[in-house]
Amino acid sequence: MTALKALYGGTFDPVHYGHLKPVEILANLIGLSKVIIMPNNVPPHRPQPEATSAQRTEMLKLAIADKPLFELDERELRRDTRSYTSETLREWRQEQGPTQPLAFIIGQDSLITFPSWHDYESILGNAHLLVCRRPGYPMAMKDEAHQQWLDRHLTNSADDLHRTPAGKIYIAETPWFNISATLIRERLQQGESCDEMLPQAVLRYIQEKGLYQ
Ligand code: ATP
Repeated sequence: MTALKALYGGTFDPVHYGHLKPVEILANLIGLSKVIIMPNNVPPHRPQPEATSAQRTEMLKLAIADKPLFELDERELRRDTRSYTSETLREWRQEQGPTQPLAFIIGQDSLITFPSWHDYESILGNAHLLVCRRPGYPMAMKDEAHQQWLDRHLTNSADDLHRTPAGKIYIAETPWFNISATLIRERLQQGESCDEMLPQAVLRYIQEKGLYQ
């Protein structure tokens, strides 16, 4: 059996435990040996990040320095165009060949909005979707057609993810972490503590550079 490889995209402005902890647990649950973190350049659905690409990368490096599960891929940051997940996954699929099982990791909030993503059907054509639970977001899709789409692709078998190259959606029973980058930025701006929310090394970097003030 070929090992399942997973990509984890996001803005990571800044990276926090709500990103890292569910994914570490997910990796144990389904047998993932590598998770490739890919920070995005100009995220199509979002306002621009506050930290620069170089600063977001530096914070990710500090966060994963002692975690061999994670690897960093800076390809989206090197582009000057918008980074669409569908294009990145198409490129990754070409590199990995047609039979390699590939997955893209998202939080529950991203699953709800997923059908509004650019060329979303092709994402599942190239990878599975692995979903981590996140507090405050519904489990059901907003409309019936999207719910049917979800039901068609859902699996609760981790073996399925290893046996097929793409096309399944797996909702993992990961614990809830009530942390978001927005909350961290707001707390830092108000001078409130974020000690439990992100790695100490990242927090030190934020303080040294005077970010999110
Ligand atoms: P912001 O608050 O700025 O919107 P964020 O905390 O949601 O940021 P992103 O970098 O946008 O972080 O998220 C990258 C990925 O991580 C997304 O798929 C998102 O759903 C997921 N994610 C972020 N925080 C959590 C969390 N607390 N639990 C589960 N998944 C999360």
